[in-house]
Amino acid sequence: MSAQLLDGRKVAAEVKAQVKKEAEAFYARNGRKMGLAVILVGDNFASGVYVNNKIAACNENCIKSFSYKLPESTTEEELIELIHKLNANTMVDGILVQLPLPPHIRPSVVLPHISVDKDADGFLAENAGNLMLGIPSLNACTPAGIIELLHSTGRKIDGANAVVIGRSNIVGKPIALMLLQNNATVTICHSHTENLTDFTHNADILVVAVGKKHVVNGDMIKKGAIVIDVGMHREDGKLCGDVDFESAREVAGYITPVPGGVGPMTIAMLLKNIVKAALRLE
Ligand code: NAP
Repeated sequence: MSAQLLDGRKVAAEVKAQVKKEAEAFYARNGRKMGLAVILVGDNFASGVYVNNKIAACNENCIKSFSYKLPESTTEEELIELIHKLNANTMVDGILVQLPLPPHIRPSVVLPHISVDKDADGFLAENAGNLMLGIPSLNACTPAGIIELLHSTGRKIDGANAVVIGRSNIVGKPIALMLLQNNATVTICHSHTENLTDFTHNADILVVAVGKKHVVNGDMIKKGAIVIDVGMHREDGKLCGDVDFESAREVAGYITPVPGGVGPMTIAMLLKNIVKAALRLE
């Protein structure tokens, strides 16, 4: 039996339709569009593609984008100065600094200058802390998108055994907290976990955010489980994930494809964060 595909493009389109409705209503009320400032430093090709996709998504959904493409030679001080200007700009509701930054710019020094209320990525300590405390705030986009995908299956998260592989600050930890908030029983695995398969075999929901090809295959998955593949790699010019899709789809109940699974949800949830931020600042 083959798993049902969890179509991120379809779910993302639904989220974006709701975003557009709220953004248009905001425009009608305020005479200005909600605004996202996107800052790209240097000429990392992949980052350029991500930034262009985010700007296009804003433009398609009644959100004004302010694009800042800065040279590789930009200093930390210059970047911080721009962030302060954007914090004070009432046309800007959200600020996003595209990562990774060039090696001479420390994210830990620069990013905390973004106003907590304009933290479009939901990466700042206060927003991450709010997630831990269960206080509504701007949440990290990829994990928030995964929760939407899980809801779209119609299956209950409440009471499910959820296993998250990966403990990064932008995916693994926040998705574990969000699953916990939804009353799943959550296990977090990482590179020091022994006998990974002992954990994955018990997972009703398996989230894989490792960044290594085929770290999970069909033999490791519980029959009927929901498998969310966050990884993104290029293989022979094609995109693939952390999960060996062909063997996993024979065992799983639902599975996200790569591309077309988690990726589209990340941008949709970024737009949702702009709506949240703009409505709070209105
Ligand atoms: P990351 O910061 O590199 O974290 C990877 C995590 O995987 C770490 O916690 C690491 O454990 C763990 N790990 C490494 N090898 C392992 C193994 N053999 N077994 C179990 N755990 C292992 O990566 P990330 O930023 O979370 O991203 C993960 C992947 O998702 C990447 O491919 C990235 O490109 C992709 N991604 C996609 C989107 C999207 O929108 N689709 C968004 C974000 C990220 P330790 O902590 O012990 O080192």
